[in-house]
Amino acid sequence: MTKFRVRFAPSPTGPLHIGGVRTALYNYLLARQQGGSFILRIEDTDQTRYVPGAEAYIVEALRWCGLELDEGPGIGGDYGPYRQSERKDLYQKYAQQLLDQGQAYYAFDSAADLDRLRAEYEARKAVFRYDNSTRMDLLNSLTLPTDEVKRRLEAGEPYTVRLKIPRDEEVSIQDRIRGTVTFKSNELDDKIILKADGLPTYHLANIVDDHFMEISHVIRGEEWLPSTAHHIYLYRFLNWESTMPQFAHLPLILKPKGKGKLSKRDGAKLGIPVFPLAWEGDRPEDSFAGFREFGFLPQAVNNFLAFLGWNPGTEQELFSMDQLSTDFSLERIGKSGARFDYPKARWFNQQYLIATPDVDLVALLRAHDTDGLTTDRSDAFLAAFAGLMKERVQVLPEFWEAGYYFFGPVRDYETKMIRKKWKPERRAAFDALRDRWAELEDFTAAGAEALVKAFMEEQGWGFGDVLPILRLGLSGTMKGPSVFAIGALLGREEVSQRLQLAYDYFDQYHREQASA
Ligand code: GLU
Repeated sequence: MTKFRVRFAPSPTGPLHIGGVRTALYNYLLARQQGGSFILRIEDTDQTRYVPGAEAYIVEALRWCGLELDEGPGIGGDYGPYRQSERKDLYQKYAQQLLDQGQAYYAFDSAADLDRLRAEYEARKAVFRYDNSTRMDLLNSLTLPTDEVKRRLEAGEPYTVRLKIPRDEEVSIQDRIRGTVTFKSNELDDKIILKADGLPTYHLANIVDDHFMEISHVIRGEEWLPSTAHHIYLYRFLNWESTMPQFAHLPLILKPKGKGKLSKRDGAKLGIPVFPLAWEGDRPEDSFAGFREFGFLPQAVNNFLAFLGWNPGTEQELFSMDQLSTDFSLERIGKSGARFDYPKARWFNQQYLIATPDVDLVALLRAHDTDGLTTDRSDAFLAAFAGLMKERVQVLPEFWEAGYYFFGPVRDYETKMIRKKWKPERRAAFDALRDRWAELEDFTAAGAEALVKAFMEEQGWGFGDVLPILRLGLSGTMKGPSVFAIGALLGREEVSQRLQLAYDYFDQYHREQASA
């Protein structure tokens, strides 16, 4: 049996889009499940689109997501090198073989000639294609005399090598997601397989590498489906068809609104992440934060991405990586596009925050603390804070937005509640309660609760008379964890000072309202 070997083969042309991360994830999960190998191959043959830093970004994104590689640049493996720019000779050899077999040809048409043709066709509302219907009218080794071709090559004239697609044929693939997909050869262009700079194009390099790296399954985005027809011809011409990998083309990821492919611009427009990690571009508009900086946990991102195209066929939504690598299957990947549902991503993240032990959230909170709030706070304090807040937030920065008052004074009070609840004639009673709380022997949430209940009974007051006042006094807001728990974490001194300050403010506010 052939070994299960899959590759993630990004081109380092910029940061890795979240769709690329999904492709990597699906490959990774299936490799784990099948006891196979997950390989990173850097497809860097297009020098004009090469972006420094992109490869490092890709590697870091995979590492952050926990998609551990078995082979790849910097890791090694028996099938290297894993960067296409380091495998040039191999591609030239197979381009030459195709030329020798008459299944590829030299083309000498200049870029200007081809542009002119394109414009001419466009004027007639047609599309120019270099293919089996036009190639005999163009400047190539099929139309030029042999010695003229030789002369041009010897003179070092620029050329490309094109694949000679046969006429009037049909080619089919058995796609693991889409079933039989058939292409008509007359609709295929004669793709360039080797460029003027001697480097192969994606098509040739991809096929040669998949062959020699013994890739068993090609799992990639739907946008590559049309190219597969050319790839089949390459496998066929090189006599590798019997060991050709199986194909699975993943559905598109659609915009949050559902129409069209999710793009980089959607991220900027909607203020949502569409990349895994931050990227520093040349211009401000090319720089952005990723899921990591938006405060997502990688496990949540993986779970979210798994569902962008796949479903388990049950109601279950939360899947650890271990569970995913057991339950995941090509058969349950859909054909139609999956909508990028950002609120769902946030929901997943919340579930993972809740499931993460409080002590494990401490390091994450410190890492996401841009204002130095946590600097002089103990791990125990932060763990307790995380425990109180994690059900109330969805992404890490919301811990600070919703719970800033654990780290400093209340910034403002919900005045509507002051108007509704504060009665100046009760100030003395509330002062007494404040003192008793500060002196409480059992200074815990439970201790505070018992104390407050006793106080309510003494006064003949209900919860609605007391708790909103304490809550507003300590946090300024009616939203948040139990007021007793807030008090316990803030500590005696803080509770006492904060309530005193708040009551003064409530009194003053009341006076202002009365005189207004
Ligand atoms: N280099 C291609 C990309 O950037 C790889 C496509 C494939 O997996 O064959 O996505």
